[in-house]
Amino acid sequence: MNRGVKDEGNLSATLGVMCSSPLMTDLDHVAAAVRDVTDFPKPGILFKDITPVLGDATLFQSCMKLLADTASGERIDKVVGIDARGFIFAAGVAQNLDAGFVPVRKAGKLPWTTRQMAYTLEYGESVVEIHEDAVKPGEKVLLVDDLLATGGTAAAAIKLLRALEANIVAVSFLIELEGLQGREKLGESIPVHSLLKY
Ligand code: AMP
Repeated sequence: MNRGVKDEGNLSATLGVMCSSPLMTDLDHVAAAVRDVTDFPKPGILFKDITPVLGDATLFQSCMKLLADTASGERIDKVVGIDARGFIFAAGVAQNLDAGFVPVRKAGKLPWTTRQMAYTLEYGESVVEIHEDAVKPGEKVLLVDDLLATGGTAAAAIKLLRALEANIVAVSFLIELEGLQGREKLGESIPVHSLLKY
C-alpha cells in the first residue's frame, strides 16, 4: 500500500457535499462520492475509498462509461484489469467497448502458464502475472486500474503486456494521486488518463 497525498479535496468533492446542482457533471458526482479514510491501512496513509461509488448504480455506470471513453473511439481487443479493484472497473469497461477482459493478478492466482514481473512496493517487493496466451501480439489493449499511486503496479503490468507484444492504446485510472508522480514510471510513449486527480 502506498502513501496517499493528504489533500484538501477538490472543488467537485466540496460541491458534492454541499449540494447536487444540475451543473455538476457525472464526474463531479463520482468525485463527491469518493471517501477519504485517514490512516488506513496504516498511519499516514490517506485511503481513497471507492466503495460508495461502486454502491451507487448511476455513479458506477458513469465510471465505466468515462473510462471507456478514454479509448478515444479506438477499437479495443482486450481491456486488462489489475488485481483487485482494477477488475471491478475493467470488466465493465470491456463490456462498454465490446472487448474481452484480461486479469493481471498477484503471483500464484492464475492457473495456466504465466509471465511474471516483480516490482517494488513502499516496503519490499511484489509480483504480478498474466496468462501468456491472454493477449496476442498486436492486439489493442486498454489497461485499467482504480488508482495510480507510485505507479509500480501499472508499470509492471505494462512490462508484462509489452512482453506479450500487445499494442497498448492507453492506460486509464479512476484516480491519480499526482503528488506521488506515478505517471513518470509509465513512460511517455503510452497515453495515461486519470478521471480524478488529487
Ligand atoms: P502503486 O503501484 O503505488 O501505483 O499502487 C497502486 C495500487 O495500490 C492501486 O491498485 C490501488 O488500489 C492501491 N492504492 C495505493 N495507494 C492507495 C490509496 N491512497 N488509496 C487507495 N488505494 C491505493
